[in-house]
Amino acid sequence: MFSWGGPVVTDTVSDVGSLAFAGLAFTCALTVAKKAQGRLRLAWSLFAFGLFGWLIGDAAWLVYRLVLRTEPAGFSFIDVAYLMFPIATGVAWSVNAPRERRPLALRPLLDGLIVASALFLVLWPLILHRLFEQNAGNEAQLALALAYPIADLVMVTMALVVTAAVRAPYRGSMVTVTFGLIIVAITDCALVYVQSIGERTNPLLAIGWAAGMLLVAAGALRELHTPRLAGVTAAVTRRRQLFWLPYAPLVFAIPVSVTALWEFTPGDRPLLVAGVLLISAALIRQLTILLENRALLDVVAEQALTDPLTGVANRLLFSDRLDHAMLLRQRDDRKVSVLSLDLDDFKMVNDSLGHSYGDALLRHIADRLTSVVPAGDTVARLGGDEFAVLIEDGPVSAAELAQRIVEAFDKPFYLEGDDLFIHPSVGLATAPPIDDEEITADELFKRADLAMYTAKRAGIGGVQTFTADMRLVDRAELRTAASNGGKRRRTTVSGIQLLGQLRRAIDDAELSLVYQPKISLSSGGIVGVEALIRWPHPELGVLTPNQFLPLVRQNGLMGAVTDLVLDRAVADATTWFQPGTCEMPVAINLFAPSLDDLALPDRILAAVSDAGLPPTALSVEITEHLLVANIRRASTVIDRLRANGLRVAIDDYGSGYATMSYLRDLRIDELKLDRQFIAPVLRSQRAAAIVQSVIDLAHTLGIVCVAEGVEDEATADRLRDYGCDVAQGHYFSRPITADALRDRCQVGMSNSAIFPITD
Ligand code: C2E
Ligand code: CA
Ligand code: CA
Repeated sequence: MFSWGGPVVTDTVSDVGSLAFAGLAFTCALTVAKKAQGRLRLAWSLFAFGLFGWLIGDAAWLVYRLVLRTEPAGFSFIDVAYLMFPIATGVAWSVNAPRERRPLALRPLLDGLIVASALFLVLWPLILHRLFEQNAGNEAQLALALAYPIADLVMVTMALVVTAAVRAPYRGSMVTVTFGLIIVAITDCALVYVQSIGERTNPLLAIGWAAGMLLVAAGALRELHTPRLAGVTAAVTRRRQLFWLPYAPLVFAIPVSVTALWEFTPGDRPLLVAGVLLISAALIRQLTILLENRALLDVVAEQALTDPLTGVANRLLFSDRLDHAMLLRQRDDRKVSVLSLDLDDFKMVNDSLGHSYGDALLRHIADRLTSVVPAGDTVARLGGDEFAVLIEDGPVSAAELAQRIVEAFDKPFYLEGDDLFIHPSVGLATAPPIDDEEITADELFKRADLAMYTAKRAGIGGVQTFTADMRLVDRAELRTAASNGGKRRRTTVSGIQLLGQLRRAIDDAELSLVYQPKISLSSGGIVGVEALIRWPHPELGVLTPNQFLPLVRQNGLMGAVTDLVLDRAVADATTWFQPGTCEMPVAINLFAPSLDDLALPDRILAAVSDAGLPPTALSVEITEHLLVANIRRASTVIDRLRANGLRVAIDDYGSGYATMSYLRDLRIDELKLDRQFIAPVLRSQRAAAIVQSVIDLAHTLGIVCVAEGVEDEATADRLRDYGCDVAQGHYFSRPITADALRDRCQVGMSNSAIFPITD
């Protein structure tokens, strides 16, 4: 700085110093290149290569000045070596430049144009116009003179563009390196300026280069100590960019170019070109930002209305569509129905197979729902395993669509190479005609929910349609059901491991039957038996139906179980059934979906006749709420069975809803009054009144009335007084094995006063 010791010392210190700092920068960059991966590694290798060129240039310069004591004249290989630095660096950072998707793909290029033309605007009045004037007419000379400033311009531009796009933790090193590059470029320009005013060089410039190289080295070292996230090979992302950085040169470009344009001469034309370029690039860049913003807004709007997991509507969109549908109903009296769906035992899937499996299942379910539901209607996921469907006026009635949706779950879901059965509880509510009743969207939705909870409580699948009496259902119980995530623990023993054992038990016919006698209240004799299934489990003991039937139902094993029960019951019946002496029919319980199977009557009749038994040896019991789903088909099956001589009973009468219509629509032989009415018959006058009336009603319709769950003598007496025909319960006999039953039967033939039986 102070030229102590004369020009030789100054030259030596500056040349050796430059070389040393360039060497340091090169070594640091090379170390980073060795450690980095992917695109980053390529970028740093190219950068190190450029620094190597600079190093060669410095070394050659030193040899010329200090050893050969001359200076290379004109454009020499030293210039080539030096120019390698900005060129390789420009390429290096363009390798590392951010890759954007459309409409942003152009953005780095536009940023480059903005930065480059802004820098050009700054450089023009400072040095470039001088070079143009001095080399006017001599293009080759001009090109040489421009080589350094232009190469530096490209280098700084690329560095700024990349730095702007680098994510925060990795930005420090890039900022430092870019600072170094800018100082090197400024020093280069200063050299051009010095030369343009006629001097060869200036020793002060060495300080600029040294400082630049030192910063490059520091930046490289910082890069080396930045912790790399796993998998981050290119530290460039779109997020949290220094979005203003490409505009930074404008801060200098505007005042400088305004000053220059003030005294515009024809020689300043390149300035105009650069200005136009700058403005166009900035405008186009703004345009890409507008496009991007609009695309982002679309995405945000879409995300606000759809469920991210399944892509179907979310709660917000659903209630919006429902409100709209209710408005249409007001105006045009259009039909509106809401279907509320809640998966049974989804929690079990989640708990035993994992959440990602559960998520995949939910996606499959959403797909299946959308494939069944017509395009005009709305499928929505309301959260968890809750779905809803909005059914508007269309060619398909809501009840039919609901039925189709339930049937869509009869096929298993294929996930990770396995078949999985899952069923929903479904509630349906339809808005009444506007003249009949005013109803809000909210209320309609609540009704569908209420119907769904009723279906869930019944635990038998199928669709429950909202009926007014559901509003009388114990709200407190619903609330606890809801707070349990809508699930009621129906299975005490459940789990995936049990399912495998169950399949094996069914395959090996390990499930067994016990029989509970039905007693004639007038004669005290056995008039029939009911077959009840049991699973003698090796570890858990004998399991009752409530403990494993849900598992059977949910896994599509009902058909197999029904066949097994049918075969076993018929086989057992052959051991006691003797026409004329012991005509005790056996009743089997049927699952709901079995009734949808129109081939079922033939199978049952074949099983009976194959065993050589008359059809009267068998009867079937159908739980009342099972009938809800498809009354017409159930009615067909029932008629077929009865036409062939089988007896059909409605089971658990009074435990479900809308039961009167069954008595009207279905032709049946027997009505089994649910336990919940029989138990309080002595205590509650109201229960007694109901029992009495139902017995009378049954008799009016020519139907035999059976009382279930009779546990004591007084109840039996009371029922006899009411005229009840048949009773069943622990007071008479618990369910017993086929062998025990045969013994009793033989005794009973000789002695009619065999009851009560205790075991
Ligand atoms: P359900 O058809 O109502 O069968 C009567 C249930 O009441 C039986 O329970 C029986 O053991 C029980 N019970 C009989 N007398 C009394 C009594 O005095 N007091 C009390 N508290 N309970 C009594 P179980 O065997 O546990 O069967 C439960 C349900 O499982 C049955 O109800 C039936 O719906 C179903 N189920 C049983 N076996 C089969 C079958 O083979 N196939 C089908 N699909 N369902 C079956
Ligand atoms: Ca039954
Ligand atoms: Ca029953």
